Amino acid sequence: MLRPGTQRLRGILLRSCWRRGSPGHPRSICGREGEEKPPLSAETQWKDRAETVIIGGGCVGVSLAYHLAKAGMKDVVLLEKSELTAGSTWHAAGLTTYFHPGINLKKIHYDSIKLYEKLEEETGQVVGFHQPGSIRLATTPVRVDEFRYQMTRTGWHATEQYIIEPEKIQEMFPLLNTNKVLAGLYNPGDGHIDPYSLTMALAAGARKYGALLKYPAPVTSLKPRSDGTWDVETPQGCMRANRIVNAAGFWAREVGKMIGLEHPLIPVQHQYVVTSTIPEVKALKRELPVLRDLEGSYYLRQERDGLLFGPYESQEKMKVQDSWVTNGVPPGFGKELFECDLDRIMEYMEVAMEMVPVLKKADIINVVNGPMTYSPDILPMVGPHQGVRNYWVAIGFGYGIIHAGGVGKYLSDWILHGEPPFDLIELDPNRYGKWTTTQYTEAKARESYGFNNVVGYPKEERFAGRPTQRVSGLYRSLESKCSMGFHAGWEQPHWFYKPGQDTQYRPSFRRTNWFEPVGSEYKQVMQRVGVIDLTPFGKFNIKGRDSIRLLDHLFANIIPKVGFTNISHMLTPKGRVYAELTVSHQSPGEFLLITGSGSELHDLRWIEEEAVKGGYDVEIKNITDELGVLGVAGPRARKVLQKLTSEDLSEDVFKFLQTKSLKISNIPVTAIRISYTGELGWELYHRREDSVALYDMIMNAGQEEGIDNFGTYAMNALRLEKAFRAWGSEMNCDTNPLEAGLEYFVKLNKPADFIGKQALKQIKAKGLKRRLVCLTLATDDVDPEGNESIWYNGKVVGNTTSGSYSYSIQKSLAFAYVPIELSEVGQQVEVELLGKNYPAVIIQEPLVLTEPTRNRLQKKSGKDKT
Ligand SMILES: Cc1cc2nc3c(=O)[nH]c(=O)nc-3n(C[C@H](O)[C@H](O)[C@H](O)COP(=O)(O)OP(=O)(O)OC[C@H]3O[C@@H](n4cnc5c(N)ncnc54)[C@H](O)[C@@H]3O)c2cc1C
Repeated sequence: MLRPGTQRLRGILLRSCWRRGSPGHPRSICGREGEEKPPLSAETQWKDRAETVIIGGGCVGVSLAYHLAKAGMKDVVLLEKSELTAGSTWHAAGLTTYFHPGINLKKIHYDSIKLYEKLEEETGQVVGFHQPGSIRLATTPVRVDEFRYQMTRTGWHATEQYIIEPEKIQEMFPLLNTNKVLAGLYNPGDGHIDPYSLTMALAAGARKYGALLKYPAPVTSLKPRSDGTWDVETPQGCMRANRIVNAAGFWAREVGKMIGLEHPLIPVQHQYVVTSTIPEVKALKRELPVLRDLEGSYYLRQERDGLLFGPYESQEKMKVQDSWVTNGVPPGFGKELFECDLDRIMEYMEVAMEMVPVLKKADIINVVNGPMTYSPDILPMVGPHQGVRNYWVAIGFGYGIIHAGGVGKYLSDWILHGEPPFDLIELDPNRYGKWTTTQYTEAKARESYGFNNVVGYPKEERFAGRPTQRVSGLYRSLESKCSMGFHAGWEQPHWFYKPGQDTQYRPSFRRTNWFEPVGSEYKQVMQRVGVIDLTPFGKFNIKGRDSIRLLDHLFANIIPKVGFTNISHMLTPKGRVYAELTVSHQSPGEFLLITGSGSELHDLRWIEEEAVKGGYDVEIKNITDELGVLGVAGPRARKVLQKLTSEDLSEDVFKFLQTKSLKISNIPVTAIRISYTGELGWELYHRREDSVALYDMIMNAGQEEGIDNFGTYAMNALRLEKAFRAWGSEMNCDTNPLEAGLEYFVKLNKPADFIGKQALKQIKAKGLKRRLVCLTLATDDVDPEGNESIWYNGKVVGNTTSGSYSYSIQKSLAFAYVPIELSEVGQQVEVELLGKNYPAVIIQEPLVLTEPTRNRLQKKSGKDKT
């Protein structure tokens, strides 16, 4: 039993175990500079109307108030239920880092740190920001590969990052036992900040620019009005808001429930311990860099003359606050901590004591065990929420201290300018949906917490909580035959096992066990015929009096004729690519819209919002879960399908991009002649309950033609060879369609003034600065996958967006953005992969002509000859 007082714990002496925050002085946990904090003062003012009401006065909510007010928004009100920082913020360890394994979040970390560096000067509030740098330790060869992988993903960003040798690490962190250390990933400028002081400084700034921060003012009810505004109720009174932002930390689920939403968030416990003065630390001439022992799964930083140690336990050991999951946060839970539980973290402490031996002599003077929320993938949810007008969220922060500054700016820019300032799709709250049950969220939160420091591989799959209820009709038939990938709740075949081959999940930075099977699937589609389960696509039905007008306003392409399909892009007002959809005009004024699995609610929200804004008389239905989709592709696709239908599928009768309702045997389908493989193919949209029967019939009918399955990895290789762009990689709201090479789909001369048209005209008039190109490179056992640095003359000049092995030329193939002056065919550049620069050359795209183009050329050459 742990109790306040002094207790020796396997070498570490425990002095006290902290439970309740001392009101107003949370820095007593691990107070840093000894600076005085401003008194907590509630403002007496009240407003009946607000432009934006932010619910929650943690670092995230206050940062948003600061940014909105600073950018000039009038009537920004923040309502806090007790006092600022009273959720997870007051007791956080305050670590800040430039590093993030993803791409877009690096920008958030960067913006936060740059803001924190100048906040003290701007607001006059001390923030206790220390920037001694940080070192991540590699003690295994695969971790060194991960660092090399991360270096190429950072090279084209503003962040400074280096791989350093053990000797250098020893010099920077003299208390480290470097026996097992192979390398370090060093980020100068990393460090830690006092979260309480940071929030107070942001609050001072917010007030200075005119925001009202009101507390105590608990929001007790939220009522939407028909004009899109909200009535926000508190015991102090009611306030009408044009927009509300839920920033309620681990109460965010409770706030969501007020309007019938179940945000997928799970409260978890996280602990760190603080030691008393350690003479060896005290004797140091400069502050130690923050250390992250990735194999040991803990962080360690200097805290005054002692150390602060925080582990991430495995998913089996970590603690979900179960009673809160079932019953919600107990009413009245305030600025509190949980009982500490050192047994849970003991094994991690022992590892740390081996790495940093002075810890063995240290006394523990404080243990902090605090609550925070985890989303299934540990990334926060930031942005407007689909299905609820003018309801925004900034919730689910596992690392809110480092995210607060950047996210506040990002969200404020989005709110003020009507579009996200840069691509941050991984934080879109609409990546989740009805399939994210509490059970799923809990399994995932455990996994995400436990995997905090695991090696992050390309094409990584995580298996907790799978399958969800959202499986395709074919799932049971295919699950034992293939390696499934997880896409927005769905399971989708990545690659199929071949007899005698290794079927394990073997992630790697290099080519791995799926490389050969994917090659066979590639040949299957190029030479015979393949079937793929495309059920995860997002699918919407749009009809009504104004449907054509609405789509003409939304899309940069023209509206296809009845019975036809086209690829269309929704652009932002600034002319960037918000989404790419397949639009089929099924009957006059009735459309089937198809989007990728990851963008279902992202796209739907945009469409719904524009429909409401413009007062269009349309009916929009999300039919994603109702329809299954099978893709049949390859030179023999027609022959196989023709056996099953009386509809004439011949080239001149069922043309490329035509769509028809027909029957495959007795099953009604909407057939579209299109295939992302670029080969002859159809997509068959059918009732989800018919998927197995339809699949079985096609497979039986195709026996003679040598039909077989293929998965999304083969499809990716096929589409890259055809130079088909992918939304989210080659195009997103960081790119305009002209630089992405999508001119063919953008009709600047169509009469409708579609969103982004004017901006795009200006972009065109000014000329492009960079362009998307296709390049090939010969490597040994590694392929590009996107986000790698492109080098020219010793400098990073661009980045890849996606890549694959090309099974047709036995080389690697990638898309990349390069400066316009380096975008000519034949231009040589280099692509950095795992620490090595490989020579690459820009090629004429596409590498392989599509089937419709081959046909057209063949017909033309036939005509030319006659
Ligand atoms: C032990 C520990 C250490 C951590 N260390 C780090 C770290 O080193 N670095 C890092 O980046 N992150 C760290 N974190 C995570 C970080 O603390 C959180 O991500 C961050 O504080 C979340 O901030 P927030 O503003 O979203 O929520 P909170 O700080 O929880 O704030 C939410 C606020 O909303 C208010 N509220 C709730 N309901 C209502 C309502 N109905 N009406 C009005 N107000 C309401 C609450 O009172 C609260 O003040 C740590 C967390 C823990 C537990």
